[in-house]
Amino acid sequence: MTSLSISGKTRLIALLGSPVSHSRSPALQNGAFLALGLDYVYLAFDIPLERVTDAIQALRVLNARGANVTMPLKQAVCEHLDRLSPTAALAGAVNTIVNDDGVLAGHMTDGAGYLMSLDECRVPYIGKTMTILGAGGAATAVAVEAAMRGVRSVHLFNRRDAFFEAAQVRVMQLRERLGCDAQLHDLDDANDLAASIKTSDILVNATSIGMEATRDQCLIQDPGCFHAALTVSDLIYVPAETALLKMARARGCRTVDGTGMQRLQGMLSFQLWTGQDLPADLARQSLAVSE
Ligand code: NAP
Repeated sequence: MTSLSISGKTRLIALLGSPVSHSRSPALQNGAFLALGLDYVYLAFDIPLERVTDAIQALRVLNARGANVTMPLKQAVCEHLDRLSPTAALAGAVNTIVNDDGVLAGHMTDGAGYLMSLDECRVPYIGKTMTILGAGGAATAVAVEAAMRGVRSVHLFNRRDAFFEAAQVRVMQLRERLGCDAQLHDLDDANDLAASIKTSDILVNATSIGMEATRDQCLIQDPGCFHAALTVSDLIYVPAETALLKMARARGCRTVDGTGMQRLQGMLSFQLWTGQDLPADLARQSLAVSE
């Protein structure tokens, strides 16, 4: 069999968010369904924030097996679901929905996928200090997982906008529930940011700055704070080398792009929907074909 066989029993798994047309998740998931003979189809739907209620209702009406959720919906979906995993509840964000007999459960695999990608690249993080740009769904998921896996300090930097206060509450929960030294800072305070990077082992871009639409942009204006022991990582996977990673490579820093995270968080989501493991080689092959 070389293409998916769609029948009257095929179950839908959706990707919900905006933008989604760049996503490699359809290639990853459909490649695995085909190779393992599983009767699912994975389709991407461009859903703006104001249609989030309709999109979750559609999953219920169509009896979809589940969904991946991407920006800007990761936080907004939470209130529409029937239950949240402990990690999703702590992050206040969901990237995977599983529909079990009409009960929609929200999970978060982004943080685990990111930390596993550091493991693959042999970047140590236990007892280390991490600076995270952003405090959205992926940023908080990375912060939660980092705290759970023994990262000592996590400094998140976000614009002081309408989302700042909610992020403040989540960061406080990280301190209280996981005992991690977590702090939220103003992204516009360049001196504070430079000081944090100077004392960090890992810098993570978890904002959308650097994606296709802002390809040449980077939130760090002066790389003078980059040092030889710093690992610079970006959650963005298209382009694989963002302006931030180029700047870091030029300064001699070790870099980790978002492609490993994308593969690993997708493998964790696959397990949640199907109960089966997605073989690592198969995941790499499916993503290589989609490049
Ligand atoms: P999200 O919840 O919408 O969060 C977006 C973040 O970017 C927020 O902190 C937002 O700040 C910030 N941001 C947006 N525009 C900005 C600007 N002009 N200046 C400064 N900050 C800005 O999205 P998400 O799901 O966390 O995704 C964030 C990034 O991670 C995206 O690039 C996504 O592709 C990537 N990602 C990659 C993977 C992977 O598998 N590799 C998985 C998940 C996410 P405000 O709150 O102030 O708007």
